[in-house]
Amino acid sequence: MNKNELKEFICHFLDEHKQELIDNGEYLLHIPELAYKEYKTSEFVAGYLAGLGLNVRKNIAITGVRADLNTGKPGPVTAVLGELDALIVPDHPFADTTSGAAHACGHHAALNAMLGCAKALCLPEVLQHLSGKISFMATPSEECQDQPYIASLIAEKKLQFFGGKSQMIAENEFKDTQIALMLHAGDKNFTVSGFNGFVMKRLIFKGKSAHAGAYPEQGINAISMMRSAMAMLDAQRDTFRDEDHVRIHGYIPDGGQAVNVVPHHTVFTLQVRGATPQAVQDASEKVDRCVHAAAIAFGGKAVVENIFGFMPLINYPELDELHRNNVLNFIAPQAPFITGIYRPSSTDMGDVSMIKPSIHGYFRGFSGTAHTVDFLVTDPVQAYVDSAKMLALNVIDLLYGDARTGREIAALSTPMDQEEYLQKMHGYSSRIEYP
Ligand SMILES: [Zn+2]
Ligand SMILES: [Zn+2]
Repeated sequence: MNKNELKEFICHFLDEHKQELIDNGEYLLHIPELAYKEYKTSEFVAGYLAGLGLNVRKNIAITGVRADLNTGKPGPVTAVLGELDALIVPDHPFADTTSGAAHACGHHAALNAMLGCAKALCLPEVLQHLSGKISFMATPSEECQDQPYIASLIAEKKLQFFGGKSQMIAENEFKDTQIALMLHAGDKNFTVSGFNGFVMKRLIFKGKSAHAGAYPEQGINAISMMRSAMAMLDAQRDTFRDEDHVRIHGYIPDGGQAVNVVPHHTVFTLQVRGATPQAVQDASEKVDRCVHAAAIAFGGKAVVENIFGFMPLINYPELDELHRNNVLNFIAPQAPFITGIYRPSSTDMGDVSMIKPSIHGYFRGFSGTAHTVDFLVTDPVQAYVDSAKMLALNVIDLLYGDARTGREIAALSTPMDQEEYLQKMHGYSSRIEYP
């Protein structure tokens, strides 16, 4: 078979197994689990890949799974990723009644696409035409939900990072891979020009308690310190450049202890997002200066804890182009395909894209808004079958014949290598005490 015939063969094969793909996707929808607790989902993935005859490794980054398919011929190792976790949306129609977890970001469908892709590529009729290796990876914790649980795993040194892909990088799972592919659920077929990265910040203000009615002059009000820091930060928003896409948002997990006591302790947790690591770092340092100034102004103390979250996502136009052609020529010729959408949100696929040529494309089949109760599959064929075809066809382009296209893409330059990445991730994380 030539390359196009092989692609037609795969599309036909996945159409024939449509019901199995839909059933698997719906099964995953009904077992939503939170970050680093995706045990049932991980078990299902491992069982499915083992059923295809692959040698499966489990418990990578706690719940991650990896299985490699070797063509026996030299060529690039292409990682095909699927995300395991759900997020807390208790009112979602398919939410777990105990944990509140729901697949309100559609990871079940994208994970299912990875499994469908594996099923097609494992066929001997397909594999004989390819070179290199395909590494199927199920990655934990993209939503990073249940932060206290993840923080406890980090404190116990079971993890280094919030993001499952970052953790898998730290565990050397991407060291031998050259290209990474993944898809995400959406309401249309599209690719992105980039995603923001972010740092997680915990701002702790330490004042002095006093009787709020009788002797407020004896206290140092930690709410006033926090308010002042926020006001100073707001006053600097016009210094953020449009192209840096800076967004700063957060909440107050500790806003004081009692109504009639001058609060001696408050905590403001926030995320600082930006289009480059430098933009994130610049905005993050502005926050730090505001915290420091507030501590000085009130004669109190403050602590800033920084944990670098995700890196910005780098777009590789060569991979976008290949994906777009497959969608338009083989899967959804009539549907619009949009390119160049910038996402000010963040994904740990950004971390992978910093060190490997990567793609994070979107497939349709869903309606509603991600992360809300109404994000639901409206077209099971688009969500569960077409998505699997997209991944498989992209691999065909990369690894067909002697994997010439894959070798070219593997040779593209990336912003950093694994060592630099890990150094930066640890370098940006800090604890600063003021004064
Ligand atoms: Zn999400
Ligand atoms: Zn998602």
